Amino acid sequence: MSIHEPIIIRKMNHKALSGFGYNNAFVYFAKFFNFIPLSSKPFFFVSDGFFEDLSPEEQLFLIGHELVHAKHRHLLYDQFIFLLIFLILLFFAFLQVGRFINYLVRIYSFKNYEKYLAIVLYILVFVSLNLCIKVTFCCYRKQQEWQADQESLALLKSYNGGIKFFERCVREYRQDWHSGGIFVDHPSNYERRMYCLTAQQNESLNKSIG
Ligand SMILES: [Zn+2]
Repeated sequence: MSIHEPIIIRKMNHKALSGFGYNNAFVYFAKFFNFIPLSSKPFFFVSDGFFEDLSPEEQLFLIGHELVHAKHRHLLYDQFIFLLIFLILLFFAFLQVGRFINYLVRIYSFKNYEKYLAIVLYILVFVSLNLCIKVTFCCYRKQQEWQADQESLALLKSYNGGIKFFERCVREYRQDWHSGGIFVDHPSNYERRMYCLTAQQNESLNKSIG
């Protein structure tokens, strides 16, 4: 998979288990306050027991997916960059709010309400900007998840494991086939199983042509 450096494998602790759930694995880079990157050395975290329950095919798909995250350094700088963009945009947005309030005070003489208006406007700007950044970040993450699946499928031909894993997610882990909404940062189990099936069909087609 063109990964030439060691990856440290760790069991998930209680904090990680409560955040990510028992049926999960993820790649993590050391960060200060979970935002500022400290090292580009990847750690592969997996919950104890969950991994052993999977079939070798499913393990292959999952390991491939996580290794793609490690290879492309997904989430190493991303959260920090998004936070920086948010703070810069917030700074300029707040400047504009300040100017807008000054303008209103000049045109209309409601000096008594100035403070309340300012508080409401600042909160509104903060909440809406925060929402926009969160939605953008979720779309961005969804694209990274898609990339990790696609590269795992292409490099390891791990579609059989992928199909079984997403079926297990719904049947055994009680996840939904379809996950919607603006804060979803993964393709749905349905989408993921579908592109595993497509990869499987393409492969058997290639074999029959070959
Ligand atoms: Zn992932």
